[in-house]
Amino acid sequence: MALRKLVAGNWKMNGTRASLAELDAIVAAAKANEAADVAICPPFTLIAAAAERANGVAIGGQDCHIAVKGAHTGCVSAEMLADSGATFVIVGHSERRADCHECDADVRAKAEAAFAAGLTAILCVGETEGQRDEGAAVMTVGGQLDGSVPPSASAAQLVVAYEPVWAIGTGRTPSVGDVAEMHAMIRAKLIELLGEEGAKVRILYGGSVKPDNARELLSVVDVDGALVGGASLTAAQFVPIIEAGASLR
Ligand code: PEP
Repeated sequence: MALRKLVAGNWKMNGTRASLAELDAIVAAAKANEAADVAICPPFTLIAAAAERANGVAIGGQDCHIAVKGAHTGCVSAEMLADSGATFVIVGHSERRADCHECDADVRAKAEAAFAAGLTAILCVGETEGQRDEGAAVMTVGGQLDGSVPPSASAAQLVVAYEPVWAIGTGRTPSVGDVAEMHAMIRAKLIELLGEEGAKVRILYGGSVKPDNARELLSVVDVDGALVGGASLTAAQFVPIIEAGASLR
């Protein structure tokens, strides 16, 4: 089943209010390419301002705490994101798994917190270079899904992003065959875990998606969109990726 493409940008720890000019240009491009869904996940500090001018582009957080509120200095809850105008939140990004030692159980709890707040979780999985070299990529990602996908998830609540850790920010990407193999396994696993809902969950590819490789990657079966880091920071780079997604509906 071909699902509507989602092109999502992860600004990571980049962006000040001046960056909202880029968002304005992205919003204009999204309007002209309505065959694809577009989301931007700016830093927490920009979510409310971004949501006010997003006009059809979804705004997301890059993480959330598992609790609704409490003594967790520096953290932000899913409810707070929703209150600021976010409709998405990234959970389990490999940078958080590495920097903050988040495990699959943490990621699952964050996804459940996101659902409770009415947010859609973009749940990230992906193998390290060592795991791929050992031939353990598919097993690693399958295990991450077993441990982190909430069994209650619906297709409206969940997006999975396959992001090989070694492809993030490096300019390297897996072969089209390797992407196809991994996305086919993820689809089968989602159906195993969620039944028919699993056939409707969008699976994004992420890791060095750029204007010149977006079309090829987005054409792979069961690649239902892209999660884009560096190339989402400017409209000049991000808009051609949106256009590629919209052209492949
Ligand atoms: C990411 O970190 O989610 C990502 C895909 O980054 P990049 O596109 O820069 O590789």
